[in-house]
Amino acid sequence: MAKEYKNFIGGEWVDAASGERFENRNPADWEELVGTFPKSDERDVLKAVESAKKTLKDWSNMPIPKRGEILGRAGDIMVERKEEIAQVMTREMGKILKETRGDTQEGIDTAYYAFGEGRRLFGITTPSELPNKTIYTILKPIGIAGIISPWNFPMAIPTWKIFPALLTGNTVVFKPASDTPATANLFMEILDKAGVPKGVVNLVNGPGSKVGEAILKNPDVGVVSFTGSSLIGSRIAEVCGKTLKRVSLELGGKNPQIVMEDADMDLAIEGVLWGAFGTTGQRCTATSRLIIQESIHDKFMSMLVERAKKLKIGNGLNEETDMGPIINEAQMNKILNYIDIGKNEGATLIYGGERYTEGECSKGWFLTPTIFTDVKPDMRIAKEEIFGPVLSVIKVKDFDEAVKVANNVKYGLSSSIYTRNLLYAMKAIENLEAGITYINAPTIGAECHLPFGGVKNTGNGHREGGKWAYEIFSEIKTVYIDYSGKLQKAQIDTAVVK
Ligand code: NAD
Repeated sequence: MAKEYKNFIGGEWVDAASGERFENRNPADWEELVGTFPKSDERDVLKAVESAKKTLKDWSNMPIPKRGEILGRAGDIMVERKEEIAQVMTREMGKILKETRGDTQEGIDTAYYAFGEGRRLFGITTPSELPNKTIYTILKPIGIAGIISPWNFPMAIPTWKIFPALLTGNTVVFKPASDTPATANLFMEILDKAGVPKGVVNLVNGPGSKVGEAILKNPDVGVVSFTGSSLIGSRIAEVCGKTLKRVSLELGGKNPQIVMEDADMDLAIEGVLWGAFGTTGQRCTATSRLIIQESIHDKFMSMLVERAKKLKIGNGLNEETDMGPIINEAQMNKILNYIDIGKNEGATLIYGGERYTEGECSKGWFLTPTIFTDVKPDMRIAKEEIFGPVLSVIKVKDFDEAVKVANNVKYGLSSSIYTRNLLYAMKAIENLEAGITYINAPTIGAECHLPFGGVKNTGNGHREGGKWAYEIFSEIKTVYIDYSGKLQKAQIDTAVVK
């Protein structure tokens, strides 16, 4: 019988108030039931918020380095349980083991960053315009942080949010994606074992429309950190706007890889294969557009198709698999629909574009890697996020046109250019409208100590990763200490008299 998982509220493992459960199945083999999970609603969110409220004072009063030590211990436990986490993650969302190990490693790195940040969390000190006065800033917690995460990085993304939220002294109500609740469950076990006091972190499983909305609408939740689609992101901003909550949004992408005629072709092909078909194209940073100079287009495409043919599709639990399944049937149908749209728009399907059902794949949501050429910049497959292994190839005359095409979308997360020309590289850094630009590397591959996020509809200006993530969960207090023994008036006593 499949495991019956629970919510984690007030330090206890509990069922949903409704008593209902939902299933979580392996997308590589729908006959495999990973587990059943509590189908929660507003009542469970209310309990989680109460618990987060009750524990806030003690947690936020704990010295920050002590909080850091607890999070460092969580990192140690993740190291010990890395393989177990990767296996569970692959089973519930399909990504190949190499990648789920990487996803877990990102969580470990983020834990150790938080451990270090516990002895930093710098404010600033600066000279005053008045004598005998000291000025500095400190960071204070906001209160209760609502964390809503997507399914494609089930360990990395929750850690990007929850470690900074906790280190800065907030307590947490966490709603993971319904496709990846088992990884979230493991994360809670780890935080508990590491010594996060009971009730400080609370996990509520269930649908976004019930659990997510209840978090957004709860007046005691002070900050919401969301990663997911731009569509849901704008809903989050709308609801949170009503109660003036702080909201951090990390949303979709339509990331370009530009390849200039002077590029190292083999390197560029490795890059586009990994960028477009790694994680089965289900990354916010996936390379979904290849923008290529016309002089090398035909040669490059025939080399690329040869390599794409060799990608081994299958269950991510097999070490030799290169590309796992699509997350679920609905997403698979959405991608197939986009493939039809591409054909109807007049693009040429040069490889893939269909379900893959060979051997062990007959019971999963598998697609072949898909490549469209003759894509025009205004086609829907060139502009909309498909979130699958579909690459739209756009031919351009020169560098200027490449940049223009790259910027011709409403998203701006990641971007990449392959060139040996320093001028092109520098101009791309300057002119590509994106939060991240890679030179001679694919659009994927963030590091946890650097800011991560995008421009335009990819977000609302916040950045996760590094010290920037800590700002999302902090209020800045400015402190003025006057030891002159008299009333000093800023701007008035200091005015320059001519
Ligand atoms: P999604 O927007 O469908 O869901 C994200 C989360 O929001 C889930 O937990 C879902 O249950 C919840 N949710 C749904 N409706 C809600 C509502 N009304 N109120 C509150 N919560 C609600 O996204 P997904 O399919 O899980 O993930 C894929 C998307 O995430 C893609 O668009 C991808 O680009 C994006 N993404 C972005 C980043 C980034 O850092 N920019 C990283 C990973 C994924």
